[in-house]
Amino acid sequence: MKIKTRFSPSPTGYLHIGGIRTALYSWLLARNLGGKFILRIEDTDFKRSTQSAIDIIIDSMNWLNLDWDEETYFQTKRFKRYNAIINDMLSKSIAYYCYCSKERLDTLRKAQIARGEKPHYDGRCYESHVYHKKNKPCVVRFRNPKNGFVVFNDLIRGPIKFNNQELDDLIIRRTDGSPTYNFCVVVDDYDMAITHVIRGEEHINNTPRQINILKSLGAPIPKYAHVSMILGKDGKKLSKRHGAVGIMQYRDDGFLPEALLNYLVRLGWSYGNQEIFSLNEMKKFFSLKSISKSASTFNTEKLLWLNHYYINHLPAEYVATHLVWHINQQRIDTSTGPKLTTIVKLLSDRCKTLKEMAASCRYFYEDFSEFDTNAAKNHLHSLTAPALKIMGIKLSALSDWTPAIVHESIKKTAEELQVSISKVCMPLRVAVTGTIKSPAIGITMHAIGQSRCLTRIAKALDFITYRTQKSNDQQ
Ligand code: GLU
Repeated sequence: MKIKTRFSPSPTGYLHIGGIRTALYSWLLARNLGGKFILRIEDTDFKRSTQSAIDIIIDSMNWLNLDWDEETYFQTKRFKRYNAIINDMLSKSIAYYCYCSKERLDTLRKAQIARGEKPHYDGRCYESHVYHKKNKPCVVRFRNPKNGFVVFNDLIRGPIKFNNQELDDLIIRRTDGSPTYNFCVVVDDYDMAITHVIRGEEHINNTPRQINILKSLGAPIPKYAHVSMILGKDGKKLSKRHGAVGIMQYRDDGFLPEALLNYLVRLGWSYGNQEIFSLNEMKKFFSLKSISKSASTFNTEKLLWLNHYYINHLPAEYVATHLVWHINQQRIDTSTGPKLTTIVKLLSDRCKTLKEMAASCRYFYEDFSEFDTNAAKNHLHSLTAPALKIMGIKLSALSDWTPAIVHESIKKTAEELQVSISKVCMPLRVAVTGTIKSPAIGITMHAIGQSRCLTRIAKALDFITYRTQKSNDQQ
Protein backbone atom coordinates (compact mmCIF):
# COMPACT_ATOMS: atom_id res chain seq x y z
CA MET A 1 0.00 0.00 0.00
CA LYS A 2 1.26 3.48 -0.88
CA ILE A 3 1.27 5.69 2.14
CA LYS A 4 -0.02 9.24 2.15
CA THR A 5 0.52 11.83 4.84
CA ARG A 6 -0.60 15.38 5.25
CA PHE A 7 0.31 18.61 6.97
CA SER A 8 -2.86 20.44 7.79
CA PRO A 9 -2.24 23.66 9.64
CA SER A 10 -4.91 26.13 10.66
CA PRO A 11 -3.84 29.55 9.36
CA THR A 12 -4.69 31.33 12.57
CA GLY A 13 -1.34 32.67 13.73
CA TYR A 14 2.32 31.93 13.57
CA LEU A 15 3.54 28.68 12.12
CA HIS A 16 5.69 27.65 15.04
CA ILE A 17 8.39 25.09 15.70
CA GLY A 18 5.98 22.37 16.87
CA GLY A 19 3.82 22.74 13.76
CA ILE A 20 6.69 22.58 11.34
CA ARG A 21 8.18 19.59 13.16
CA THR A 22 5.01 17.58 12.53
CA ALA A 23 5.15 18.76 8.91
CA LEU A 24 8.73 17.52 8.69
CA TYR A 25 7.90 14.13 10.22
CA SER A 26 4.92 13.69 7.89
CA TRP A 27 7.03 14.70 4.92
CA LEU A 28 9.89 12.40 5.91
CA LEU A 29 7.63 9.41 6.40
CA ALA A 30 6.14 9.90 2.94
CA ARG A 31 9.52 10.44 1.33
CA ASN A 32 11.04 7.52 3.23
CA LEU A 33 8.39 5.09 2.06
CA GLY A 34 7.92 6.43 -1.45
CA GLY A 35 4.47 7.75 -0.61
CA LYS A 36 2.76 11.11 -1.01
CA PHE A 37 2.65 14.16 1.19
CA ILE A 38 0.00 16.84 0.87
CA LEU A 39 -0.60 20.30 2.27
CA ARG A 40 -4.10 21.12 3.45
CA ILE A 41 -4.99 24.51 4.84
CA GLU A 42 -7.66 24.14 7.53
CA ASP A 43 -9.20 27.57 7.20
CA THR A 44 -12.75 26.94 8.33
CA ASP A 45 -12.43 29.26 11.31
CA PHE A 46 -13.34 32.43 9.40
CA LYS A 47 -12.77 34.73 12.31
CA ARG A 48 -9.22 33.62 13.04
CA SER A 49 -7.92 32.53 9.63
CA THR A 50 -5.96 35.11 7.68
CA GLN A 51 -4.35 35.31 4.27
CA SER A 52 -1.07 36.42 5.80
CA ALA A 53 -1.00 33.27 7.95
CA ILE A 54 -1.58 31.20 4.78
CA ASP A 55 1.27 33.03 3.05
CA ILE A 56 3.54 32.38 6.02
CA ILE A 57 2.77 28.65 5.94
CA ILE A 58 3.59 28.45 2.25
CA ASP A 59 6.71 30.63 2.55
CA SER A 60 7.95 28.54 5.46
CA MET A 61 7.43 25.26 3.61
CA ASN A 62 9.18 26.66 0.56
CA TRP A 63 12.04 28.09 2.57
CA LEU A 64 12.57 24.71 4.24
CA ASN A 65 12.20 22.92 0.91
CA LEU A 66 9.40 20.72 2.20
CA ASP A 67 7.65 20.10 -1.10
CA TRP A 68 4.18 18.69 -1.32
CA ASP A 69 2.34 16.59 -3.88
CA GLU A 70 -0.97 17.46 -5.50
CA GLU A 71 -2.63 20.87 -5.33
CA THR A 72 -2.73 22.86 -2.09
CA TYR A 73 -6.08 22.03 -0.50
CA PHE A 74 -8.22 24.63 1.25
CA GLN A 75 -11.11 23.49 3.40
CA THR A 76 -13.14 26.62 2.63
CA LYS A 77 -13.24 25.46 -1.00
CA ARG A 78 -14.78 22.14 -0.05
CA PHE A 79 -17.97 23.21 1.76
CA LYS A 80 -20.19 21.70 -0.94
CA ARG A 81 -18.60 18.32 -0.37
CA TYR A 82 -18.88 18.54 3.43
CA ASN A 83 -22.53 19.54 3.20
CA ALA A 84 -23.34 16.75 0.76
CA ILE A 85 -21.97 14.25 3.28
CA ILE A 86 -23.81 15.87 6.17
CA ASN A 87 -27.07 15.67 4.21
CA ASP A 88 -26.40 12.03 3.48
CA MET A 89 -25.70 11.36 7.15
CA LEU A 90 -28.94 13.15 8.08
CA SER A 91 -30.89 10.96 5.67
CA LYS A 92 -29.35 7.86 7.28
CA SER A 93 -29.90 9.15 10.83
CA ILE A 94 -26.20 9.00 11.50
CA ALA A 95 -26.58 12.71 12.14
CA TYR A 96 -29.51 14.76 13.39
CA TYR A 97 -30.73 18.33 13.67
CA CYS A 98 -30.48 19.85 17.11
CA TYR A 99 -32.62 22.86 18.04
CA CYS A 100 -31.55 23.16 21.64
CA SER A 101 -31.06 26.75 22.70
CA LYS A 102 -27.88 28.02 24.27
CA GLU A 103 -29.83 28.56 27.49
CA ARG A 104 -30.99 24.94 27.59
CA LEU A 105 -27.47 23.67 26.94
CA ASP A 106 -26.09 25.93 29.68
CA THR A 107 -28.65 24.68 32.19
CA LEU A 108 -27.96 21.09 31.17
CA ARG A 109 -24.24 21.54 31.58
CA LYS A 110 -24.54 23.15 34.99
CA ALA A 111 -26.81 20.37 36.24
CA GLN A 112 -24.42 17.69 34.98
CA ILE A 113 -21.46 19.37 36.63
CA ALA A 114 -23.44 19.69 39.88
CA ARG A 115 -24.11 15.93 39.74
CA GLY A 116 -20.40 15.31 39.23
CA GLU A 117 -20.88 14.17 35.62
CA LYS A 118 -18.75 15.12 32.65
CA PRO A 119 -20.79 17.68 30.68
CA HIS A 120 -22.27 16.21 27.52
CA TYR A 121 -25.25 16.68 25.23
CA ASP A 122 -28.16 14.50 26.42
CA GLY A 123 -29.40 13.60 22.92
CA ARG A 124 -32.83 15.15 23.36
CA CYS A 125 -33.19 16.21 19.71
CA TYR A 126 -32.18 12.75 18.55
CA GLU A 127 -34.61 10.98 20.87
CA SER A 128 -37.59 13.14 20.09
CA HIS A 129 -38.69 15.12 17.07
CA VAL A 130 -41.18 17.07 19.15
CA TYR A 131 -38.51 19.68 19.62
CA HIS A 132 -37.79 20.07 15.93
CA LYS A 133 -39.05 23.38 14.67
CA LYS A 134 -39.12 23.89 10.94
CA ASN A 135 -37.09 26.87 9.62
CA LYS A 136 -35.66 27.60 13.05
CA PRO A 137 -31.88 27.84 13.37
CA CYS A 138 -30.34 24.52 14.26
CA VAL A 139 -27.03 22.70 14.32
CA VAL A 140 -26.36 19.19 13.05
CA ARG A 141 -24.91 16.67 15.47
CA PHE A 142 -23.18 13.39 14.81
CA ARG A 143 -24.82 10.46 16.58
CA ASN A 144 -21.87 9.05 18.48
CA PRO A 145 -22.18 5.37 19.49
CA LYS A 146 -23.46 5.14 23.04
CA ASN A 147 -21.64 2.00 24.09
CA GLY A 148 -18.33 0.32 23.63
CA PHE A 149 -14.87 1.74 23.26
CA VAL A 150 -12.74 3.35 20.62
CA VAL A 151 -9.26 1.87 20.65
CA PHE A 152 -6.45 2.87 18.39
CA ASN A 153 -2.82 1.94 18.34
CA ASP A 154 -0.92 5.18 18.37
CA LEU A 155 2.30 4.64 16.44
CA ILE A 156 4.26 6.64 18.99
CA ARG A 157 2.37 6.09 22.24
CA GLY A 158 0.93 2.59 21.87
CA PRO A 159 -2.74 1.60 22.40
CA ILE A 160 -5.11 4.37 23.50
CA LYS A 161 -8.67 3.59 24.60
CA PHE A 162 -11.70 5.86 24.98
CA ASN A 163 -15.10 4.96 26.36
CA ASN A 164 -17.86 6.03 23.96
CA GLN A 165 -19.90 7.17 26.94
CA GLU A 166 -17.33 9.91 27.42
CA LEU A 167 -17.81 11.24 23.90
CA ASP A 168 -20.43 13.80 23.04
CA ASP A 169 -22.73 13.93 20.04
CA LEU A 170 -20.42 16.28 18.24
CA ILE A 171 -21.76 19.31 16.35
CA ILE A 172 -20.72 18.83 12.75
CA ARG A 173 -22.57 21.80 11.24
CA ARG A 174 -23.11 25.13 12.97
CA THR A 175 -26.32 27.19 12.83
CA ASP A 176 -24.73 29.37 10.13
CA GLY A 177 -24.38 26.28 7.93
CA SER A 178 -20.61 25.95 8.25
CA PRO A 179 -19.15 22.51 8.96
CA THR A 180 -16.96 22.14 12.04
CA TYR A 181 -13.29 21.37 12.33
CA ASN A 182 -13.41 17.73 13.43
CA PHE A 183 -15.85 16.89 10.70
CA CYS A 184 -13.90 18.54 7.87
CA VAL A 185 -10.75 16.74 8.96
CA VAL A 186 -12.54 13.42 8.75
CA VAL A 187 -14.00 14.03 5.29
CA ASP A 188 -10.66 15.28 4.02
CA ASP A 189 -8.63 12.42 5.45
CA TYR A 190 -11.14 10.08 3.81
CA ASP A 191 -11.36 11.83 0.43
CA MET A 192 -7.64 12.43 0.25
CA ALA A 193 -6.91 8.80 1.18
CA ILE A 194 -4.63 9.72 4.08
CA THR A 195 -3.03 6.61 5.54
CA HIS A 196 -0.98 8.19 8.35
CA VAL A 197 -1.98 11.14 10.49
CA ILE A 198 0.99 12.64 12.31
CA ARG A 199 0.08 15.55 14.53
CA GLY A 200 0.58 17.11 17.94
CA GLU A 201 -0.54 15.33 21.10
CA GLU A 202 -3.12 18.08 21.73
CA HIS A 203 -5.22 16.27 19.10
CA ILE A 204 -5.39 12.94 20.94
CA ASN A 205 -8.86 13.72 22.27
CA ASN A 206 -10.12 14.47 18.77
CA THR A 207 -9.00 11.12 17.45
CA PRO A 208 -11.78 8.87 18.89
CA ARG A 209 -14.42 11.33 17.65
CA GLN A 210 -12.88 11.35 14.21
CA ILE A 211 -12.58 7.56 14.17
CA ASN A 212 -16.28 7.19 15.05
CA ILE A 213 -17.30 9.49 12.20
CA LEU A 214 -14.98 7.68 9.78
CA LYS A 215 -16.50 4.36 10.82
CA SER A 216 -20.01 5.70 10.32
CA LEU A 217 -19.03 6.65 6.77
CA GLY A 218 -17.54 3.24 6.13
CA ALA A 219 -14.17 4.90 5.60
CA PRO A 220 -10.79 3.28 6.28
CA ILE A 221 -9.20 4.42 9.52
CA PRO A 222 -5.76 5.97 9.08
CA LYS A 223 -2.93 5.16 11.45
CA TYR A 224 -2.34 7.88 14.03
CA ALA A 225 0.88 9.15 15.55
CA HIS A 226 0.68 11.90 18.14
CA VAL A 227 3.94 13.71 18.68
CA SER A 228 4.79 15.01 22.15
CA MET A 229 5.15 18.63 23.07
CA ILE A 230 8.18 20.83 22.87
CA LEU A 231 9.10 22.49 26.14
CA GLY A 232 11.19 25.52 26.90
CA LYS A 233 14.28 25.26 29.12
CA ASP A 234 12.13 26.00 32.16
CA GLY A 235 10.05 22.86 31.50
CA LYS A 236 6.98 24.87 30.44
CA LYS A 237 5.24 24.49 27.09
CA LEU A 238 7.21 26.36 24.44
CA SER A 239 5.67 29.73 23.80
CA LYS A 240 6.52 33.23 22.65
CA ARG A 241 8.05 33.82 26.07
CA HIS A 242 10.86 31.46 25.08
CA GLY A 243 11.37 33.31 21.83
CA ALA A 244 9.41 30.64 19.99
CA VAL A 245 8.17 32.83 17.24
CA GLY A 246 7.22 31.89 13.69
CA ILE A 247 9.46 29.78 11.49
CA MET A 248 10.36 32.68 9.21
CA GLN A 249 11.88 34.42 12.21
CA TYR A 250 14.62 31.75 12.08
CA ARG A 251 15.38 32.79 8.52
CA ASP A 252 15.40 36.43 9.63
CA ASP A 253 17.74 35.56 12.50
CA GLY A 254 20.22 34.03 10.07
CA PHE A 255 19.61 30.29 10.24
CA LEU A 256 20.03 27.99 7.28
CA PRO A 257 17.08 25.69 6.47
CA GLU A 258 19.42 22.70 6.72
CA ALA A 259 20.30 23.62 10.30
CA LEU A 260 16.69 24.10 11.33
CA LEU A 261 15.57 20.85 9.70
CA ASN A 262 18.44 18.93 11.28
CA TYR A 263 17.61 20.49 14.63
CA LEU A 264 13.91 19.69 14.31
CA VAL A 265 14.38 16.12 13.18
CA ARG A 266 16.48 15.38 16.27
CA LEU A 267 14.04 17.17 18.54
CA GLY A 268 12.12 14.03 19.45
CA TRP A 269 13.62 11.53 17.02
CA SER A 270 16.91 9.66 17.12
CA TYR A 271 19.04 7.38 15.03
CA GLY A 272 21.74 5.96 17.28
CA ASN A 273 23.97 8.77 18.45
CA GLN A 274 24.06 10.55 15.13
CA GLU A 275 23.53 14.31 15.38
CA ILE A 276 24.23 15.55 11.87
CA PHE A 277 21.82 14.47 9.15
CA SER A 278 21.82 15.52 5.54
CA LEU A 279 18.37 15.69 3.99
CA ASN A 280 19.04 12.41 2.20
CA GLU A 281 20.05 10.71 5.42
CA MET A 282 16.93 11.98 7.15
CA LYS A 283 14.79 10.57 4.35
CA LYS A 284 16.65 7.28 4.43
CA PHE A 285 16.71 6.69 8.18
CA PHE A 286 13.48 8.27 9.38
CA SER A 287 10.92 6.03 11.04
CA LEU A 288 8.09 6.66 13.46
CA LYS A 289 9.40 3.89 15.72
CA SER A 290 12.27 6.04 16.93
CA ILE A 291 10.16 9.03 17.90
CA SER A 292 10.28 9.68 21.60
CA LYS A 293 7.14 9.54 23.72
CA SER A 294 8.44 12.12 26.13
CA ALA A 295 8.45 15.85 25.61
CA SER A 296 11.51 17.48 24.06
CA THR A 297 13.28 20.58 25.28
CA PHE A 298 14.12 23.36 22.92
CA ASN A 299 17.78 24.33 23.05
CA THR A 300 18.85 27.45 21.18
CA GLU A 301 22.57 26.77 21.74
CA LYS A 302 22.30 23.47 19.92
CA LEU A 303 20.49 25.11 17.04
CA LEU A 304 23.25 27.72 16.84
CA TRP A 305 25.87 24.98 16.95
CA LEU A 306 24.19 23.21 14.03
CA ASN A 307 23.89 26.44 12.10
CA HIS A 308 27.60 27.11 12.56
CA TYR A 309 28.29 23.57 11.40
CA TYR A 310 26.23 23.97 8.22
CA ILE A 311 27.60 27.43 7.46
CA ASN A 312 31.04 25.79 7.50
CA HIS A 313 30.24 22.50 5.82
CA LEU A 314 27.81 23.30 3.03
CA PRO A 315 29.39 24.59 -0.19
CA ALA A 316 30.19 28.31 0.15
CA GLU A 317 28.36 28.93 -3.16
CA TYR A 318 25.17 27.55 -1.63
CA VAL A 319 25.53 29.37 1.69
CA ALA A 320 26.04 32.57 -0.30
CA THR A 321 22.61 32.13 -1.93
CA HIS A 322 21.09 32.45 1.55
CA LEU A 323 23.45 35.22 2.63
CA VAL A 324 22.13 37.45 -0.17
CA TRP A 325 18.84 37.90 1.66
CA HIS A 326 20.59 39.24 4.75
CA ILE A 327 22.86 41.44 2.68
CA ASN A 328 19.77 43.00 1.12
CA GLN A 329 18.05 43.31 4.48
CA GLN A 330 21.04 45.17 5.87
CA ARG A 331 21.25 47.28 2.70
CA ILE A 332 24.86 46.50 1.96
CA ASP A 333 25.87 47.50 -1.55
CA THR A 334 27.95 44.61 -2.85
CA SER A 335 28.21 45.88 -6.42
CA THR A 336 31.96 46.42 -5.96
CA GLY A 337 34.08 44.15 -3.80
CA PRO A 338 34.56 40.44 -3.29
CA LYS A 339 32.07 37.77 -4.32
CA LEU A 340 29.73 36.64 -1.54
CA THR A 341 31.27 33.17 -1.83
CA THR A 342 34.57 34.72 -0.71
CA ILE A 343 32.83 36.34 2.24
CA VAL A 344 31.37 32.97 3.28
CA LYS A 345 34.80 31.36 3.07
CA LEU A 346 36.40 34.17 5.06
CA LEU A 347 33.81 34.56 7.79
CA SER A 348 32.15 31.16 8.20
CA ASP A 349 34.42 30.15 11.02
CA ARG A 350 33.63 33.23 13.09
CA CYS A 351 29.87 33.49 12.50
CA LYS A 352 27.08 31.41 13.96
CA THR A 353 24.40 33.03 11.85
CA LEU A 354 24.13 34.57 8.42
CA LYS A 355 22.74 37.73 9.96
CA GLU A 356 25.95 38.05 11.92
CA MET A 357 27.95 37.31 8.78
CA ALA A 358 26.17 40.04 6.83
CA ALA A 359 26.68 42.48 9.68
CA SER A 360 30.40 41.73 9.81
CA CYS A 361 31.13 41.98 6.08
CA ARG A 362 30.18 45.58 5.42
CA TYR A 363 33.77 46.87 5.43
CA PHE A 364 34.60 44.66 2.45
CA TYR A 365 32.19 46.73 0.36
CA GLU A 366 31.61 50.08 1.92
CA ASP A 367 33.86 52.70 3.44
CA PHE A 368 33.06 53.46 7.05
CA SER A 369 32.88 56.92 8.49
CA GLU A 370 34.14 56.05 11.96
CA PHE A 371 36.58 53.65 13.56
CA ASP A 372 35.47 51.59 16.52
CA THR A 373 36.20 53.92 19.45
CA ASN A 374 38.21 51.49 21.57
CA ALA A 375 40.05 50.06 18.60
CA ALA A 376 41.07 53.54 17.50
CA LYS A 377 42.10 54.52 21.03
CA ASN A 378 44.38 51.51 21.36
CA HIS A 379 45.78 51.25 17.86
CA LEU A 380 45.57 54.55 16.02
CA HIS A 381 47.96 57.00 17.66
CA SER A 382 51.29 58.70 17.07
CA LEU A 383 53.26 55.55 17.97
CA THR A 384 51.55 53.45 15.31
CA ALA A 385 51.62 56.11 12.59
CA PRO A 386 55.08 55.14 11.29
CA ALA A 387 53.96 51.56 10.64
CA LEU A 388 50.91 52.79 8.75
CA LYS A 389 52.98 55.27 6.74
CA ILE A 390 55.49 52.62 5.68
CA MET A 391 52.69 50.19 4.87
CA GLY A 392 50.99 52.84 2.75
CA ILE A 393 54.17 53.38 0.73
CA LYS A 394 54.91 49.69 0.35
CA LEU A 395 51.38 48.69 -0.59
CA SER A 396 50.95 51.47 -3.15
CA ALA A 397 54.05 50.22 -4.94
CA LEU A 398 52.67 46.69 -5.35
CA SER A 399 51.67 45.65 -8.83
CA ASP A 400 50.49 42.28 -7.61
CA TRP A 401 47.83 42.11 -4.88
CA THR A 402 47.77 38.70 -3.24
CA PRO A 403 47.40 37.74 0.45
CA ALA A 404 50.98 36.42 0.52
CA ILE A 405 52.45 39.59 -0.99
CA VAL A 406 50.49 41.80 1.42
CA HIS A 407 51.69 39.66 4.28
CA GLU A 408 55.27 39.93 3.09
CA SER A 409 55.03 43.75 3.17
CA ILE A 410 53.76 43.59 6.74
CA LYS A 411 56.68 41.36 7.73
CA LYS A 412 59.21 43.67 6.12
CA THR A 413 57.70 46.74 7.80
CA ALA A 414 57.91 45.03 11.20
CA GLU A 415 61.55 44.17 10.51
CA GLU A 416 62.38 47.72 9.44
CA LEU A 417 60.79 49.18 12.54
CA GLN A 418 62.13 46.38 14.72
CA VAL A 419 58.72 45.68 16.21
CA SER A 420 56.59 42.55 16.42
CA ILE A 421 54.29 41.74 13.49
CA SER A 422 51.24 42.45 15.61
CA LYS A 423 52.40 46.03 16.13
CA VAL A 424 51.95 46.46 12.39
CA CYS A 425 48.95 44.19 11.91
CA MET A 426 46.72 45.71 14.57
CA PRO A 427 46.83 49.38 13.45
CA LEU A 428 46.54 48.15 9.89
CA ARG A 429 43.51 46.05 10.74
CA VAL A 430 41.80 48.95 12.49
CA ALA A 431 42.67 51.21 9.56
CA VAL A 432 41.20 48.95 6.89
CA THR A 433 38.28 47.31 8.75
CA GLY A 434 37.47 49.88 11.44
CA THR A 435 37.61 47.17 14.13
CA ILE A 436 40.04 44.82 15.84
CA LYS A 437 38.30 41.70 14.55
CA SER A 438 38.80 40.28 11.10
CA PRO A 439 40.12 37.15 9.42
CA ALA A 440 43.89 36.96 8.75
CA ILE A 441 44.99 40.43 7.70
CA GLY A 442 46.61 39.43 4.38
CA ILE A 443 43.46 37.63 3.22
CA THR A 444 41.22 40.40 4.50
CA MET A 445 43.15 43.14 2.73
CA HIS A 446 43.30 41.10 -0.42
CA ALA A 447 39.51 40.82 -0.40
CA ILE A 448 39.00 44.51 0.39
CA GLY A 449 41.18 45.46 -2.57
CA GLN A 450 44.30 47.56 -3.02
CA SER A 451 42.85 50.99 -3.73
CA ARG A 452 40.29 50.76 -0.89
CA CYS A 453 43.01 49.70 1.54
CA LEU A 454 45.25 52.59 0.51
CA THR A 455 42.45 55.14 0.91
CA ARG A 456 41.64 53.77 4.35
CA ILE A 457 45.26 53.79 5.51
CA ALA A 458 45.50 57.43 4.42
CA LYS A 459 42.27 58.16 6.29
CA ALA A 460 43.63 56.49 9.43
CA LEU A 461 46.78 58.61 9.21
CA ASP A 462 44.66 61.76 8.86
CA PHE A 463 42.71 60.63 11.88
CA ILE A 464 45.93 60.21 13.89
CA THR A 465 47.17 63.65 12.81
CA TYR A 466 43.86 65.22 13.78
CA ARG A 467 43.87 63.54 17.16
CA THR A 468 47.46 64.37 17.94
CA GLN A 469 46.79 67.97 16.98
CA LYS A 470 43.73 68.09 19.19
CA SER A 471 45.49 66.66 22.22
CA ASN A 472 48.40 69.08 21.71
CA ASP A 473 45.94 71.97 21.57
CA GLN A 474 44.38 70.85 24.81
CA GLN A 475 47.73 70.75 26.66
N1 GLU B 1 -5.51 22.10 11.85
C1 GLU B 1 -5.00 21.46 13.01
C2 GLU B 1 -3.98 22.36 13.69
O1 GLU B 1 -3.43 23.26 13.08
C3 GLU B 1 -4.34 20.13 12.73
C4 GLU B 1 -5.35 19.08 12.55
C5 GLU B 1 -4.79 17.71 12.26
O2 GLU B 1 -3.59 17.58 12.01
O3 GLU B 1 -5.58 16.79 12.24
O4 GLU B 1 -3.71 22.15 14.85
